Amino acid sequence: MRRNRNVKIVATLGPASSDYDTIRALYEAGADVFRLNMSHGTHEDQAARHATIRKVEADVGRPIAILADLQGPKLRVGSFAKGSEDLQDGAAFRFDLDPAHGDSRRVCLPHPEIFAALTKGASLLVNDGKIRLKVVECGKDFADCTVTNGGTISNNKGVNVPDVVLPLAALSEKDRNDLEFACELGVDWLALSFVQRPEDVFEARALVKGRAAIMCKIEKPAAVTAFADILAATDGVMVARGDLGVELPIHSVPPIQKRLVRACRAAAKPVIVATQMLESMIESPMPTRAEVSDVATAIYEGADAVMLSAESAAGQFPVEAVATMDNVAKSVERDPVYREVIDASRKANRETVADAIVSAAREIAETTDIKAICCFTQSGTTASLVARERPHVPIIALTPIVGTLRRLCLTWGVHCVLTDSVDRFKMAVVNAARAARKEGFATEVEQIVVTAGVPFNVKGTTNILRVAPCDERLIFRTDPE
Ligand code: PGA
Ligand code: MN
Repeated sequence: MRRNRNVKIVATLGPASSDYDTIRALYEAGADVFRLNMSHGTHEDQAARHATIRKVEADVGRPIAILADLQGPKLRVGSFAKGSEDLQDGAAFRFDLDPAHGDSRRVCLPHPEIFAALTKGASLLVNDGKIRLKVVECGKDFADCTVTNGGTISNNKGVNVPDVVLPLAALSEKDRNDLEFACELGVDWLALSFVQRPEDVFEARALVKGRAAIMCKIEKPAAVTAFADILAATDGVMVARGDLGVELPIHSVPPIQKRLVRACRAAAKPVIVATQMLESMIESPMPTRAEVSDVATAIYEGADAVMLSAESAAGQFPVEAVATMDNVAKSVERDPVYREVIDASRKANRETVADAIVSAAREIAETTDIKAICCFTQSGTTASLVARERPHVPIIALTPIVGTLRRLCLTWGVHCVLTDSVDRFKMAVVNAARAARKEGFATEVEQIVVTAGVPFNVKGTTNILRVAPCDERLIFRTDPE
């Protein structure tokens, strides 16, 4: 199957989307990447979803990326006897360390370090800041609060304490456990929550040992400040607007989003814009105009991917939400203004041979009648560099490595194809021509651009560019070995 758009769609799986039929429908509606949220559900739940995605992948014959999202040092309340409670404005409510189920007067907040750091007058924000409480009295194992903004509080909702600096480790015990579990399961991307410094990435990378690519979720003020160093350390970025908009003034999020998306493109690392993109679709089959506009904005900015959270994990219309993103993407990408914006924000990178080759590949493809830019890639770097160019013609990434194939499902415009490993450039060209024809990008009488690095199987050697016919007989007749 070929997607007729460049931006990718990430759909979070959850109770509303765990059976084969729904996951398959989500894929068919446009989901390229599935996110497993390690904050919810058991390892058995995640393993079952993972297996179902791999089954869909095998059945549809197209690679699918799986992103496991670690909870990180996110603070969460415990659970309630009734699952949820309505908190009224002005009511008294207590957080404590008692693991018993909560009720309308108290709930467990299983983080002694919060109570150690809390002060009278500090704010506690629950559920992405929807519920606000003020601390009136606190001790080493409790905090008595007054509800200043009421609402429904439910099991395991997130808690932010923006007024207080909390001494938290980058990976909790649970995260280390989940990280090992997810890597053994065979996920393609691992997202780190509440990253604050590049050392957090190094720490995770030492544990991941190459089994997955690493994505940093930018959702702390400290991460925004240290962004350049975090970007250098990570493989991808998520603009995690949920927590970001709680930890920082909400109106500071759009400029940060724009800055991060641009920086990621310049670094040729994929960036996801996430959270509340189609929030009203949790309960309604139709999004609001503002939500549609938000998805469109992220695409106009050049994001690699847009993401659904509760909309696909727990909403009533998961498939409709994906279809909405797919429609918005096609509408934006058809707009000549989109092209103008994307072309105008292209940075000329002229540092390496690979930079020059991908830039030349785009220029050639756009100057002549070329149907696709095909790149042989081992680590995925060459394909990411081509994607950074945001060319007008499709990008086909050919790789013999399944992990690379799947990771690239997140990257703007890249259509990934598994190929035999080749040791001669002629065979690379033949394989590229076959893939372009088979996947419906070009016919026998049309041409493609092929980039590769010789010797093959050596990372970072992009050094060949060939304008090639899609007719194999011609390639065999004309190409040197
Ligand atoms: P979360 O991360 O959904 O895991 O909280 C995304 C965000 O904060 O935006
Ligand atoms: Mn978050």
